[in-house]
Amino acid sequence: MIPKKLLNKSRVKSPWLIHFDCGSCNGCDIEVLACLTPLYDVERFGILNVGNPKHADILVVTGTVNHRNQKALKNVYDQMPEPKVVVAIGACGSTGGIFREAYNVVGGVDQVIPVDSYVPGCAPKPERIIDGIVLALEKLAEKGKRVDEGIFERLAGTREAISAR
Ligand code: SF4
Repeated sequence: MIPKKLLNKSRVKSPWLIHFDCGSCNGCDIEVLACLTPLYDVERFGILNVGNPKHADILVVTGTVNHRNQKALKNVYDQMPEPKVVVAIGACGSTGGIFREAYNVVGGVDQVIPVDSYVPGCAPKPERIIDGIVLALEKLAEKGKRVDEGIFERLAGTREAISAR
């Protein structure tokens, strides 16, 4: 069996990330993409960009949540396995930004799903985005410990039940 510490360390040292655009102006998306280029090289933290929420540990959201995309955002979040963290990028992702008062806007990402790290700016620089993701990794480690405790407790319970038979 994998030791608890190793399980959590591997999760935090090789987190997989999915990017969801909630209807941004694409300013923030360009900066998120810049993080993946050799210049900023977010992969040096072991981070890998994936397309399937079922494989992802980190959800990075750009843009303002509106009435049309809020269900899609919740759907992506719900498909991600625990432990998971969410990073809201830019003024739009954090609060709704300049579109906040628009008739079709719900607001920031935290109006629909819990957010672990906010990255302010319009658009934020890649360095700030990477800072926000690294902050989220610390939260992922904390959440991971709690989830692993639950898994190992359940496994221990199952073993006791089997040996009692
Ligand atoms: S925060 Fe600024 S750059 Fe980012 S999506 Fe909103 S308006 Fe565009």
